Parts: sequence; C-alpha cells; structure tokens
Amino acid sequence: MLLDGKKISDEVKAELAEDVRQLVANGHRPPHLAAILVGSDGASETYVASKVKSCEKIGYSSTLVRLSENVTEQELLKEIDAINNNAEIDGLIVQLPLPKHINEQRVTERVVPEKDVDGFNPINVGKLVLGLPTFVSATPMGIIELLKRYNIETSGKHCVVIGRSNIVGTPMANLLSRNSNPGNCTVTLCHSRTKNLEAFTKQADILIVALGKAEFVTANMVKEGAVVIDVGITRVEDSTNSRGYVLKGDVKFDEVESKCSYITPVPGGVGRMTIAALLQNTLLARKNRVTHIKYQNHVS
Ligand code: NAD
Repeated sequence: MLLDGKKISDEVKAELAEDVRQLVANGHRPPHLAAILVGSDGASETYVASKVKSCEKIGYSSTLVRLSENVTEQELLKEIDAINNNAEIDGLIVQLPLPKHINEQRVTERVVPEKDVDGFNPINVGKLVLGLPTFVSATPMGIIELLKRYNIETSGKHCVVIGRSNIVGTPMANLLSRNSNPGNCTVTLCHSRTKNLEAFTKQADILIVALGKAEFVTANMVKEGAVVIDVGITRVEDSTNSRGYVLKGDVKFDEVESKCSYITPVPGGVGRMTIAALLQNTLLARKNRVTHIKYQNHVS
C-alpha cells in the first residue's frame, strides 16, 4: 500500500490553514517564514520555491532572500542577524548545501534557536536528543507524522535506518528509539562503513532509506511485509523527459512495492511531508510555544 505523502501533507496543510485563520481572526498577524537561498543550484531553487509557494497557499507570509554564489560568509551571517532581529519574522531557513567557501556549521549556529524551524541549531539538536520540546528536523518529523496518520505500529519493531546525516538519518534513529508513539522501536543505524548491509536491511520491519543513491535498495534486501520509507531524491538524466531528468528515490520502487506492506513513492512521499513539517514548525514558532507535545512526554 502506498503511503501517500501528497494526501497526508494536504491534510496537514488544511489544518494549518485553519489555525492561521483563527490566529488572524483573533487579531494576530499570520506566521512569517524567511528563506535564504545562496546561488542558483537547480534542486535548491525548486525546494525553496515549493516552500514559499506552500506558505502562500495556507496564508503564511514569506520572504525569500537571494544571495549570489560569491557572497562572503560575513555577508551571509549579517543577513541572518538581520532576520534574527526582525520581530516580524518567526522562522528562518538557510537552504543547504552552501557554496564550499562558507562554513555550514557556523551558519546553522547563527540562526537563533527560537527561529530555527529546520531544527539544525545545536541547541535544538541537543534538545531533540534529550526528548525536550524543540523544533524537530523537518524530514524525520514528516516521516513520524506519516507513520502516525497511517496508524503504523512501531512499538517493539526493528527499524533499520540507512544514512547517518545530521538532518535525516541520525534524528530519525533518535525519534524512533524514544519511548513515544510513534517510537519504541529497536533501531539499527547503518552507514557507509556498515559491513554486509543486506543482513541488517532484511531484518527490518521498518526500513528508512536516506543515502542519496538512486534505486540502491532492491527487493532482495527487503523483508516480506516491511514498511519502506524512501527519503532519497536524485535527479537521473532522462532525455525522454522534457526537463531532461527524472526524480528517483533510493529504493527500486517497481520491484520492492509488491514485497512490502507500505511504501512511500518518490516524488509524492517524504518530500511533501518535509514541507508540511516545516510549516508546522513555523506555526509553532509564531505561537511562540515550542512545546512539541507529540514528543514531550514519556521520555526515558
Ligand atoms: P548525506 O548525503 O548527508 O549522507 C548520506 C548518508 O548515507 C551518509 O551518512 C553515509 O554514511 C550513508 N551512505 C552512503 N553510502 C552508503 C552505502 N553504500 N551504504 C550505507 N550507507 C551509505 O544524506 P542526506 O542529506 O540525509 O540525504 C540523503 C538523501 O535524501 C539524498 O538523496 C537527499 O537528496 C534526500 N533528502 C530528501 C529529503 C526530502 O525531503 N525527501 C530531505 C533531505 C534529504
């Protein structure tokens, strides 16, 4: 069965739009998200454009700050400071990756935790690890929402995550091992140095794939009846397509689909949920209540 990220993210966005209507009806301004885009990388342009468009659709304000590929780190940090100090803006994201001459760590640390709706600031990451209310990184948060809304049982299941990035794999492993629902999984975190990866993936009741290699996971690596979450998005050249490329996930969808109980498509799966989660975080920032109730209780 398909885990339909488009359908569920549309539901989430409709709920957020209603929240905004109420906020405005009570005399408050709507949430305001600012995005900084450095350079003109095709994929980053697309991601930022869809984030801004989603804001507009549900009644948020948005500001897109475009900076040249050659901007200095100091100039970028100055822009971040200006937004940090702007009381009219609730959330700030800096689209990654950044050009090589800019230190991404210094940049993510500069976004004040209260506006860090991507959940990349070390203070927010630390809170996540401790199970404290915070902004949860959008992709794992969107996956949790998807599992929740499809009522997928996670407690006691073996979850295998492929990829240990700070924005996807590591927080995902953390969230699913928590004493919460969804959560309470036994988690195995696999990465580029994992030996005999297939031996782990075949044991997975829930397999979350985030390594960035198109169609890497094949049917022989998946257990019958597993839940498969495909995070990967890779542009693969395709001259028959008008754009010259097609988007592929990390899972060979055609052969894995019939073997598993649930699977996310690419596109239309995790990517949609990521944007929905970012919008949820932005509303939280607006309401100035960083109490991520879903993850607040029963941490042990
Ligand atoms: P990354 O590129 O930062 O890290 C990749 C991870 O995969 C590393 O931890 C590495 O150890 C692991 N890895 C690499 N080769 C491996 C192998 N052969 N076996 C096992 N592990 C291996 O990853 P990222 O930023 O988390 O992105 C992963 C993918 O997810 C990319 O395709 C990216 O575009 C996509 N992504 C999608 C969304 C979304 O909203 N759908 C969000 C973020 C990232």
